[in-house]
Order: sequence, then C-alpha cells, then structure tokens
Amino acid sequence: MTTRILIVEDEPAICEMLTFALADSGYRCEVAGDVRSARSLVADCNPDLVVLDWMLPGQSGIEFARELKRDPGTRDIPVIMLTARTQEADVVTGLDAGADDYITKPFSPRELAARIKAVLRRASPHAAGAELEVDGLRLDPVGHRVLADDRELKVGPTEFRLLQFLMGHPERVYSRGQLIDQVWGRNVYIEERTVDVHVRRLREALAPGGKDRLVQTVRGAGYRLSAKD
Ligand code: CA
Repeated sequence: MTTRILIVEDEPAICEMLTFALADSGYRCEVAGDVRSARSLVADCNPDLVVLDWMLPGQSGIEFARELKRDPGTRDIPVIMLTARTQEADVVTGLDAGADDYITKPFSPRELAARIKAVLRRASPHAAGAELEVDGLRLDPVGHRVLADDRELKVGPTEFRLLQFLMGHPERVYSRGQLIDQVWGRNVYIEERTVDVHVRRLREALAPGGKDRLVQTVRGAGYRLSAKD
C-alpha cells in the first residue's frame, strides 16, 4: 500500500520541492494551500501522515493540528509541523498541539524524508512497510501477503486493508463507522452493513489457517482483532 502524505503549505515553491522529493522517496502526495482544503483532503484521501506548515492564510497550522488530534477519527494521523520559528516556546506549543515532530525552515528534503520515515515507523508500523504479526498470523504489506503459520491465505483487497488496519491496532475495538473512516476513507458513502460483509469475507479467508477467531465481534460496539478469546 502506498503511503499517502498530505502537505499543507501555502508557498508554491516549497510545495513543489516537497512533492518532488517525497514522490521520489515513494510517497503519494496531496497538497493543500490552506486549512479548509486540507480538512476536505483529510476526509477524502485518508492520509497516513500530514506535513503541516505553521503559518497559513486564515486558520493557522497549529489550530488545524489541534483539530486533528481532538477528532478520534484523525487523532492517529501523525503530524509533522513545518516552522520558521525557532523559539523554544513555539516548538513546545507545536508539540503541545499534538504534533509528532517538527522541522525548522529552511530544511533539506532529505532531512524531512528521514523524519517522515521515523515518525511513520513510530506511529504505525504498517505504514512503514513493516510486517505485522498477531498470534501466528502474519501480514506483509510490501509483498501483499497474508500467512497463517507459513501457509499463505488468499485475501481480497478490501479484506486485506481491513486486516492490515486491525492488525496495526490489536486489542482495540472499532465501531463500523470508525472502520469505514479508516479503511475506506472518510466522506466515502458506505453502509455500515457493508463492513459486516467484509468482516465475514475476511473470516472466511482466514479460516483455512484457523485464524478467523482473531477477528472478534464486540456486541453493541464493533470489531476488534485479538489473540485472546
Ligand atoms: Ca506558510
């Protein structure tokens, strides 16, 4: 799965430089020039990480960082703040707002790419391409394979994304609505029972390896992936 990065920056030259450098590192980039368009892109493209400039026309980057971190649907998206400010107090404000890291302008694209990689690895191992493993069930995001005790299982593309999300956040219960936001993307109209259909297919796909029991229904709440019974 390609890692999607949303760049929120109003200076075209910096956007261009970032898009070029990050595409070169294998990321897919979306660009927003202000908070309003960033907000709708977050909803539409469900980014894996946001590179957020502090100084933006209208609402500031720092306010948008706070907004993202308040909303349970976007809270887990890592944010790297771009800032021209080097005052320690400003840096603290940025981190207090929920930014996962910050980088001071001017910076080299290579430095930013390294920060992005580190933040992604910390935030969600699956986004960095690391293999996920829960109770003998392994998911390889790079090779797009699912193995149950070394036996390869055939998993459809949507079920693969669903499994990848659940394996990346084991033992946590997600409502159908949250799963739609995370797996299909926000602003995508999907009926909640569609989630049930894909969960059923996912269980069927995992059953030959005896791993279907890991995908658990939590009555009245949603679903979770758990190695516990
Ligand atoms: Ca700016």
